[in-house]
Amino acid sequence: MNAELGCIFCDLSLKSSNNPWDQVLDETDSYSVYPTKGALLPGWQLVVPKKHVLNSSLLTEQEIFELEALIQKRAEFAHTIYGKGVVIFEHGPNIPNCKIGCGVDHAHIHIVPVPFDFEDAVIRCEYGDRFKLESYSISEFLKSKKNEGNHPYWFFTVFGSRNLYHSKTIPNVSQLFRKIIATRINMPDLYDYKKHLFLENIEKTIYDFGIIQ
Ligand SMILES: [Zn+2]
Ligand SMILES: [Zn+2]
Repeated sequence: MNAELGCIFCDLSLKSSNNPWDQVLDETDSYSVYPTKGALLPGWQLVVPKKHVLNSSLLTEQEIFELEALIQKRAEFAHTIYGKGVVIFEHGPNIPNCKIGCGVDHAHIHIVPVPFDFEDAVIRCEYGDRFKLESYSISEFLKSKKNEGNHPYWFFTVFGSRNLYHSKTIPNVSQLFRKIIATRINMPDLYDYKKHLFLENIEKTIYDFGIIQ
């Protein structure tokens, strides 16, 4: 496994941690699923490849199929528990230390049960007109990105829908989807996971989903 020194997710694969956000909710050969720091809502999960890559389009085709199956399983689980729409998104940087991601240079997909219409919220946000709608599964989208070469992207889709929205990233705009969620749940100033942990939501996620040992 190619681990990157000092990367928070690579470090987790090397040593165990007692932090609630580092507990493993699920695992496959190539991925782990964690709760996340800054869970603005309970049920927020991150699917993280065990290998160090910057974004999911850089994974192999086989790994992308495994990823899609795991995302579907975890999103369905979230839908069953919370009975809400479940949004799946990635901030996909193509170079380290750039602002468009979440400030984490290791690919990860967010799965979030949301109490509002996420498609509508993104389309109405100030960058909404930059998003392109396509009828794509996640694996079809990631393969299309792979074929284009290594460009930064944002994408989201809602569990059970083939509407996939994607955009080239906008320079200096970071945590875009987190900001949209924070605004819609009336906590616009609390979007930054580096400042606001939302420990009670993380604990609820662990309680609701359970963890594997
Ligand atoms: Zn890493
Ligand atoms: Zn992220």
